[in-house]
Amino acid sequence: MRSEVNPQSQMAFPDGEFKMPVLFVGHGSPTNAIEHNVFTRAWAKMIESLPQPNAVLCVSAHWETVGTEVTATDQPETIHDFFGFPDELYQMKYPAPGSPSLAHLVRETVHLSEIRLNTARGLDHGTWSVLCKMFPKADIPVIQLSLDSSREPAFHHALGRELRSLRRKGVLIVGSGNIVHNLRSVVWQDTAYDWALEFDEKIRNLILAGDHQSLIDYQSLGPQARLAAPTNEHYLPLLYVLGLQDPGDAIAFYADQVTLGSISMRSIKIG
Ligand code: ZN
Repeated sequence: MRSEVNPQSQMAFPDGEFKMPVLFVGHGSPTNAIEHNVFTRAWAKMIESLPQPNAVLCVSAHWETVGTEVTATDQPETIHDFFGFPDELYQMKYPAPGSPSLAHLVRETVHLSEIRLNTARGLDHGTWSVLCKMFPKADIPVIQLSLDSSREPAFHHALGRELRSLRRKGVLIVGSGNIVHNLRSVVWQDTAYDWALEFDEKIRNLILAGDHQSLIDYQSLGPQARLAAPTNEHYLPLLYVLGLQDPGDAIAFYADQVTLGSISMRSIKIG
């Protein structure tokens, strides 16, 4: 199960003094990539408060696989994985380099599962629609980790825990999803259903209380949970971010609004 240690990847990411915070980003509509709004401004402002990372590792809601994979190309392509949006969005490219050496390091760091290196996959919009606002120069290497759709929520939290050592190596780990994500209930207005607000608030309070077990068992949080997360792919990136939390880490929320009726943009900084 354990892969060989690659000295190159170890050397490329030595331990530093500083421990990088971890971010969860509520990415919402792909159109955020071509808009300047309250959310995109909050994302950009958050990055100003962080040191420059050596690389970004993103866990996006939009890449599900059986088994866990990591992108391992030098130049990941920009994937336009959405339908019916303005042409401008399909023209967008996010030409950040990849980092095969970080992909190797992730594979060496994780013991819970055998991580497969994917040399074909690029970056989906869960990653680039956010990073194009956070790092508009696209000069920081980016890799993505997939969500293993065959595993229970607890697995995703545990996998996040295994990645904690990367924080000391200057790797910014970003979970990109939405705490409340119900596309069937979306209305194209800046409004919020009561159940969406209630679930979002419940999750916020559990995060502040450090009650990760309840957050892993989110399906038991009452009827709002079924409405807020009818499928789990937008919720699971949050569990990676929580798994990466160390005792004593500060918790801050940003862009913490529910919009479009049933999309929570709540974003979180840990550390
Ligand atoms: Zn999404």
